[in-house]
Amino acid sequence: MALFVQKYGGSSVADAECMRRVAGRIRDARRAGNQVVVVVSAMGDTTDELIALAKQVNPEPNEREIDSLMATGEMASSAILTMALHALGVKAISMTGQQAGIRVDATHLKAKIQAINPKRIQRHLEQGYVVVVAGFQGMNPSEDIATLGRGGSDTTAVALAAALKADRCQILKDVDGVFTANPRVVPEARKLDEIAYEEMLELASCGAEVLQSRAVEYAKNYGVVLEVMSSFEVKPGTLVREENKQMEKMIIRGIAADKNQAKATLVGVPDQPGVAARIFKALANANINVDMIVQNVSAAGITDLSFTVPEDEIAKTRRVMEPLVKDIQAAGLRFNESIAKVSIVGVGMRSHSGVAYKMFDILAANKINIEMITTSEIKISVVIRDTDADQAVRALHAAFGLGRKSAKKAAPKKAGKASAKACKSPKKAKAPAKARQRK
Ligand code: ASP
Ligand code: MG
Repeated sequence: MALFVQKYGGSSVADAECMRRVAGRIRDARRAGNQVVVVVSAMGDTTDELIALAKQVNPEPNEREIDSLMATGEMASSAILTMALHALGVKAISMTGQQAGIRVDATHLKAKIQAINPKRIQRHLEQGYVVVVAGFQGMNPSEDIATLGRGGSDTTAVALAAALKADRCQILKDVDGVFTANPRVVPEARKLDEIAYEEMLELASCGAEVLQSRAVEYAKNYGVVLEVMSSFEVKPGTLVREENKQMEKMIIRGIAADKNQAKATLVGVPDQPGVAARIFKALANANINVDMIVQNVSAAGITDLSFTVPEDEIAKTRRVMEPLVKDIQAAGLRFNESIAKVSIVGVGMRSHSGVAYKMFDILAANKINIEMITTSEIKISVVIRDTDADQAVRALHAAFGLGRKSAKKAAPKKAGKASAKACKSPKKAKAPAKARQRK
């Protein structure tokens, strides 16, 4: 008997009809002779709604209380899905993160899983239950509820799959899998059959909202193969797994755009030892997410230094930087919100040359100006004007031949839309705005 861990995201369990549908799918997996552990997200946009509600009564709610509040979203989901399973005659039981034996560290809002004691789940599996676990949460050392960061139910699923030595870890979503680019921007975008953990991590940190980065890291560390697939249709999705030789044949696996970035530039910075350290220490102490950093060649002992931060951290960045500008005797501080980061990712870059040239050449041909560039071994990112981002993604997608293979088949009748109709969800089945990754 195989053991499946199946994770269903918020838009897949957005309302009663969605719940019944998902219950049917779980019943089918059970009927096929498998043991099933289910991990659920909160219904639809519940988490955002709960946060908004908290902010109405207190603009800066206490983190412990926010965690207690947010965790209820997943608890409600797990109980309702379990009731739907009962209605179909499936033996099932819901569990909170704590009941499922998930222990986390002491950081509220972004707790890390420290240990899992899967005894209780195992006992119920042996007794023939489907176990439905509330995602995104665990119990911390002070026996309080803590959550795992936005999108954290993915991590719950991966961690349970590792702890239970599951045969499969399926992440069921309102999209068919991982795409070469956002199909809403690039109609020819193609569903990938497989992608390496490293590539998925890079894409996730570059704005592709498919999986929580931490879940991918966890999967990589524990060798859990993930299957990202549609929750609405039964068909193969995308396997996220260890890199293999075959994968290198494709130069670029995917393209992502992140429009929620802003660029900060310190102009006229004295080019002396210790200046950069002071700036980034102040930013780090304020927990500001710095991503790209570029410093110019200095002329006459003066240089410019630019870095990107999430748009919603501009105010905080300004607060931290303004006193420093005087201290280090820089000439000024400027912000530009109208930027986007566009990234191409692929392990094939390691063995192919001229990839950067090709990317820049395509952008030039489209008259798109590059403001910043950074690279890793398997990624090239550029900062451009945000109004150029979609065009850049489409041009790069075409020029690197990403849509070629099955352009006709792929022109995805977006699963998201289909899903919204299929279970008459009142809300559009859109991916929730997930927190950006820390660097
Ligand atoms: N409900 C949480 C969120 O929206 C966790 C999750 O969906 O994975 O981020
Ligand atoms: Mg922007």
